[in-house]
Amino acid sequence: MACHSYWHRRVSELTPSEFREDIHRNKVVLEDISGKAVTAFRAPTYSIVKSSEWAWDILIEEGFKVDSSVFPIHHKRYGNPNSERFPHEIQRETGTLIVFPLSTVRIAGNNIPIVAGGYLRFFPYSFTKFGINKINQAEKQPAVIAFHPWELDPFHPMPKVSALKRFRHKVNIEKTEQKLRQLLNDFKFDSMQGVLNQYFTRLEGVKESEFAHDFALSRQS
Ligand SMILES: [Zn+2]
Repeated sequence: MACHSYWHRRVSELTPSEFREDIHRNKVVLEDISGKAVTAFRAPTYSIVKSSEWAWDILIEEGFKVDSSVFPIHHKRYGNPNSERFPHEIQRETGTLIVFPLSTVRIAGNNIPIVAGGYLRFFPYSFTKFGINKINQAEKQPAVIAFHPWELDPFHPMPKVSALKRFRHKVNIEKTEQKLRQLLNDFKFDSMQGVLNQYFTRLEGVKESEFAHDFALSRQS
């Protein structure tokens, strides 16, 4: 199980104690409902950036094993262009965390976002498919897709916002379902836990990583 915060506020706009309170509340609610451990996180608007990497320490202290909040692109609100592009383990004084950045495709020396939210809707499917194939086949790496449930509902009510925000919110929204169906048809998907277990097993060339064992532990145990 993973979570996306309780109040959906950007980490980069919170104090460390506000962030801790938010994710703790989110974790407890979801664990009580599901009976399963919540061990992975994605920040609203991919908002773990250079100046808010302190959030990783709080995630580790709150029992998280995986973070997928980093977008390795240039973007004024959420980019972290110097991040590695593929899953990696980070060592902090508080412990270790697996970071699975949002997928990008390298074109002309730049990281191009292809598979998250607005970008997934914005680009034609042929480009999405080209990008994931490049990541999977040329780079031999996994890709991660990100979208919100509301992106499957073209008719959801929308608050009054600027024309630019409305464009970002609604662009090609009527095609999301079809696009996801095509993705499911053209590529093999697994849970993030499944992909990461395979990934680190392959990297180490040994038995399942310690991470996989930790990941499987329930909150009760
Ligand atoms: Zn969100």
